[in-house]
Amino acid sequence: MIHLNSSDLAADLLQYLEQKQAQVDQGPDYPTRRRKANHLWNSKRSSQEGNAKFDQLQTQLVDMTIGIQSCNYCENNEAIDIEHIYPKGAFPGRTFRWDNYLLACKKCNSHYKLDKFAVFDPADSLQRYDIPRGAEAPTEASVLINPRVEEAMDYLWLDIVGRTFRFAILAEEEGTLAFQKASYTLELLGLNKREALVSAREKAAKYYFSRLKLYVQIKAADSLEALEELVDPFTLPQSLGTLSALQTQLCEAIRRDIVDYPHTTVWKELIRQRELLPRTLELFIAAPEALGF
Ligand SMILES: [Zn+2]
Repeated sequence: MIHLNSSDLAADLLQYLEQKQAQVDQGPDYPTRRRKANHLWNSKRSSQEGNAKFDQLQTQLVDMTIGIQSCNYCENNEAIDIEHIYPKGAFPGRTFRWDNYLLACKKCNSHYKLDKFAVFDPADSLQRYDIPRGAEAPTEASVLINPRVEEAMDYLWLDIVGRTFRFAILAEEEGTLAFQKASYTLELLGLNKREALVSAREKAAKYYFSRLKLYVQIKAADSLEALEELVDPFTLPQSLGTLSALQTQLCEAIRRDIVDYPHTTVWKELIRQRELLPRTLELFIAAPEALGF
């Protein structure tokens, strides 16, 4: 799971969402609001205007994803569904809220998260309360880490040094709010039990390391011939130009490779844990600007 760089929605779109939300909120009781939310959501693209507005909204959510449209929960698969972080069943009041959306993949949305959600019990702020299906949420204190407003890396760390490529919980004490948020997020989204994700993270670590190593080698090259030897034909431009211009161009291409690759959390963890990874640290010392990629 990765924190999203949320952007502001255009005023006309925001107003459109607010109008839809107001229609939901007018309902006199929870069952009515829930029905209305479902109906309006399912028919959101049935008018020409709705279709255009949601196209625009979806484009903005795509821009906020990591990699090339990767899911914000698993960071692996293509993100296509507009996902309500707070499910609209339990939270009809958040059905048309911009800050409640992210783009998720089918697997995360339809196999793992579904409409499950837990909040901290209002009677005991450290007790997890799983909202029953079809019931109204008693509070909005989300147990799931909310990637629109929270940084998952504040709660979790990825075991790279031990090479398990599974997430571990940063909080040491089980009873704490931070521990519960971390463990519930891992459990709900299956982030550690989906083997495909675990091996994809391992591959990502290898990919990032090799790209960073190449970046450092490009910086150190002392001739055009040396660069030609180093770089694959897909990265090398047709016209080579001068050594320093080519170095700049190739370094930028490698930076883009790193930014466009899914599993941004793995990259961020390589940065965060670099002191524990001597060979990675060496590369970052040679290319400190890569810390800001
Ligand atoms: Zn996913």
